[in-house]
Amino acid sequence: MELLFRDDAYLKECAATVVSVDEAGIRLDRTVFYPTGGGQPGDTGVLVAEDGAETAIADTRKGRDLNDVVHIPADGAALPAAGARVTARIDWERRYKHMRMHGAMHVLSSLVDGEVTGGQVGAEKSRLDFNVPSASLDKVALTETLNRIVEENHAFFERWISDEELAANPGLVKTMSVKPPMGYGKVRLIEIASVDLQPCGGTHIRSTGEIGAVTVAKIENKGRQNRRVVIRFC
Ligand SMILES: [Zn+2]
Repeated sequence: MELLFRDDAYLKECAATVVSVDEAGIRLDRTVFYPTGGGQPGDTGVLVAEDGAETAIADTRKGRDLNDVVHIPADGAALPAAGARVTARIDWERRYKHMRMHGAMHVLSSLVDGEVTGGQVGAEKSRLDFNVPSASLDKVALTETLNRIVEENHAFFERWISDEELAANPGLVKTMSVKPPMGYGKVRLIEIASVDLQPCGGTHIRSTGEIGAVTVAKIENKGRQNRRVVIRFC
């Protein structure tokens, strides 16, 4: 399956052919739907057949291997037939919020000197968990720095290194709970100039300015040395 979101996260739709339909879901020959992974929810959207019939997609998940994506139809949705030509269209408004939040997570992870132990991106709020001592994080100061980096509009860049190079540089991996997308033979590094550098298989905005104003809504204690930072769009 051709995963078009990997090369262009801004694609809202694509023409595709239905490869199979079974109890697991719908597989296409190519897709713009991002599957749940790396703390980012799977895309929702619709498959539109040539006769205009629509199949609502309620979720997208990873399938059997790295290039396999399964589109999960909404309960009771009319299903397309294998071989049908469809337009696969994501709920772009929701996905773009995920991309902006995901970008904010990259920035946030660069501001806290500690290992990231978990995280979840949402369209309205997102969180990152850090292994840091109590009282080392300040809500107001983090909000100010986050927004300064948003306003400075730093560009995102991508480059690729081999699995071996990544294995030789474990310091690149900040998020121990989310394994970098290895197994392709090469790994994509996402760099925000002078802010952040880490391997990531997610969908990315072009620059930090797209994030828009954000606020650190709360910092929770989740056990010894575990601080949960929750951010929202303003
Ligand atoms: Zn990322």
